[in-house]
Amino acid sequence: MPLSIGKPAVSDIAANLAQVRADMAAAATAVERDTSAVTLVAVSKTHGADRITAAITAGQRVFGENRVQEAEDKWPAIKQAHGDVRLHLLGPLQRNKVRKAVRLFDVIESVDRPKLARALADVMAEEGVRPDVLIQVNTGEEAQKAGVMPDEVEAFVAQCRDDLALPVKGLMCVPPVDEEPSLHFSLLREMARRTDLAELSMGMSADYVIAIRCGATLVRVGTAIFGERPAPTL
Ligand SMILES: *Cc1c(COP(=O)(O)O)cnc(C)c1O
Repeated sequence: MPLSIGKPAVSDIAANLAQVRADMAAAATAVERDTSAVTLVAVSKTHGADRITAAITAGQRVFGENRVQEAEDKWPAIKQAHGDVRLHLLGPLQRNKVRKAVRLFDVIESVDRPKLARALADVMAEEGVRPDVLIQVNTGEEAQKAGVMPDEVEAFVAQCRDDLALPVKGLMCVPPVDEEPSLHFSLLREMARRTDLAELSMGMSADYVIAIRCGATLVRVGTAIFGERPAPTL
């Protein structure tokens, strides 16, 4: 069936999840970390409710999406049916989507500029809900990539946490595709140590095992669970 090339059947999702969880446990054990110290964020962007529901049925409870609008279309109904699922925002957040994001997401992983941080603080106060915040760091200092530059992390964390009283829990990064990820993961870990932040969101389908060895507490895995995504239409 040409339409399903690269996309596992819904029935494969439980097996894929079991494999990812087994790999995660082995990676944690290998570096003498507790297996419960790493949370799997299943990245369901572009995938429909049927595939997401298959993952929930298989016991998955934490999910990630890249776009506020897509998440808003898919997730209110799913959350209504499964009250204990948690949703992370992984993609860039525009200021005009902050209110929707604060209402829908439990964790916002992509905070990376002062205007966005201020908007989040204002809207959280107005809405009376406080999703956790991670600061996205552009560890590769790539021009096209989101995230604060490494030498700005300490000041930005201080601004978010101390001045704006945002619930900052950790750091997130997406390393350059063509570089050794462990260098970036180690850099992020060192910045989290210096800023006294506990959560490290790093590692995707290709490198979550390496990330766990480097101290990840959250890994964001899409393709290895749900299969290939259609090419982005930006
Ligand atoms: C899409 C995405 C992922 C998941 O990527 P896979 O390679 O499919 O596992 C993780 N993090 C971010 C920020 C993403 O945009």
